[in-house]
Amino acid sequence: MGPDKRRLWNPVVETLSRDAMRALQLERLQRQVAYNASRSPYYRERMHWAGIAPQDVRSFEDFAQLPVMDKDEHRRVQQRSIDEYGSPLALIGCAPREAIVRINATSGTTGVPTLYTLTARDVAVVNEMHARKYWRAGIRPGHVMLQALSLSMFTGGLPLSQGIMHLGACVVPVGIEGGLRRVVEFAQLTRPDALVATPSFATQLVEQGALGAPASTLGLRWFFSAGEPGGSEPGTRRLIGEGLAARVYDHTGGGHAFHCISCEAADDGAGMHFVSEDHCLLELVDPATRAPIPLAESAVGEMVFTFLDWEGGPLMRYALGDILEYHERPCSCGLPGPRLRIVGRADDMLIVKGVNVYPKAIQQVLLEFAPRVTGAMRVLLDAPGPAVRPPLRLRVEHGSGLAGGELDELEAALRQRLRELLRITPRIEWVAPGSLPRDAHKTRLVEISR
Ligand SMILES: [Zn+2]
Repeated sequence: MGPDKRRLWNPVVETLSRDAMRALQLERLQRQVAYNASRSPYYRERMHWAGIAPQDVRSFEDFAQLPVMDKDEHRRVQQRSIDEYGSPLALIGCAPREAIVRINATSGTTGVPTLYTLTARDVAVVNEMHARKYWRAGIRPGHVMLQALSLSMFTGGLPLSQGIMHLGACVVPVGIEGGLRRVVEFAQLTRPDALVATPSFATQLVEQGALGAPASTLGLRWFFSAGEPGGSEPGTRRLIGEGLAARVYDHTGGGHAFHCISCEAADDGAGMHFVSEDHCLLELVDPATRAPIPLAESAVGEMVFTFLDWEGGPLMRYALGDILEYHERPCSCGLPGPRLRIVGRADDMLIVKGVNVYPKAIQQVLLEFAPRVTGAMRVLLDAPGPAVRPPLRLRVEHGSGLAGGELDELEAALRQRLRELLRITPRIEWVAPGSLPRDAHKTRLVEISR
């Protein structure tokens, strides 16, 4: 029996078989590539230099011959566009000015914002992606969702409010500008079913309570985690879930085409369900060489995405620097589609004896050994990465009450597991529980230490 269709916003698309989805993607990709080349001088030029005409793209492999575009490249073309045409969008925009109803920026807070545009049809696509996510989690018309995120054009701002309204639920876009107190006041007045916020905000709410009462008295049934990775970390999920007496979901996706949400099987290690495959072609590449990595169970690489069936400013083979682990194995929740786990940032990558290693992935393996370890750790480098002179050195906090022989045994098991999963054999230096400094959610896992 297939998945329960009432659990899905768009059951026709969301239950397509793998082959049918790939066929739909390829058809849309070919159309999108031809559209981009015909509308954007920049994409036309890029394809010309790569020696590929739109009609040459007959497969995903053909398409992967085109160069990857990152934010630096995006900034360069935007500046060139301003210099040559007096508009940041002239070279890369694909729709006429009167068709553009929203200008967004790709996420990130450093440097000049990199813009992309949406037509009314693109906005409708984004709205549907938000609706697909919340619908899967059980949100229906009649539910009230308190949106306590920065109300900007970035992830979690206006596009998210519009998406909630599109589903037919009621959004209370309180924002976080008025602080925790303001959010709690609105929660007590509007009695929301769901809260959308960062995991650090939710942690603060659990710890400080709701104006003198436990946070669980707010009556929240769902917590949707956004903007930071904590919502996928079992410890943080447990703390928030118990503190709010709510189900915790992690999700990603703002004003663009890439959207994911977790499910009841969130702690099985395979990450979030990818819900926007029909509008977002996902590829993985090696962050160092940008060579394609085939999409196969447990493949890890830098995410490269391409908007499909998109009119305004379709991003094509675009890399934002996120490292993903890809999973195709069926999920125990019964919902379809591949799942993705975000394992780090391309900037964090280390290379040990030719093997790409991400500090967050090491920590993930470490957490399997809790409570014999606390989960706190550092990768110690002699010099800045990515190249590391082996052996890789780790400083790891052991759990309380562990000593001598038990530590030796734990070390052997941990090294064995790291070798199996990540192909590294690190040197481990044990430290007492609580001895590594913690900074809530922004702790750097890498330290330069001679
Ligand atoms: Zn699932």
